[in-house]
Amino acid sequence: MIHLRPHHALCLQTYVGKGYSDAFAKNMTQISEKLAQRPAQLVHFNLGADEICQACPHLQNGVCSKEASCAELDRLAWDAMGLGCGEVLTWAEATQLVEQNLLQTGKFHQLCDGCTWEELCTARRQSLTNTPK
Ligand code: SF4
Ligand code: SF4
Repeated sequence: MIHLRPHHALCLQTYVGKGYSDAFAKNMTQISEKLAQRPAQLVHFNLGADEICQACPHLQNGVCSKEASCAELDRLAWDAMGLGCGEVLTWAEATQLVEQNLLQTGKFHQLCDGCTWEELCTARRQSLTNTPK
């Protein structure tokens, strides 16, 4: 079981290997690759620090130093995806919810506009959209 904050389900869709530090990027790359290889992987969605946060320099004594703003991102993602508290989904199901409820509806802008990583994620999103299927 992997534990994720709800907004990280969106962030993982356009992750390109960059992050707050080398350790952060290494950890998030491992999680991203594991999920990409295992769509049936069970993911437990809940609030608070998750497995991506564990290598983040903003995590201090188990709590994100930007918790207020990150918790708001979680709330927006949680509402848009229609997740219940502590819900467990496969990664494929979570990805589908992100696609249908955050990306196709444009609600992702509520989370991404003004984010540090917005430029990178927008470019990645556009490259995925333009990729011939
Ligand atoms: S722009 Fe920020 S909030 Fe949006 S997907 Fe990228 S990292 Fe996540
Ligand atoms: S900024 Fe906060 S929520 Fe985001 S990865 Fe770091 S510790 Fe986690």
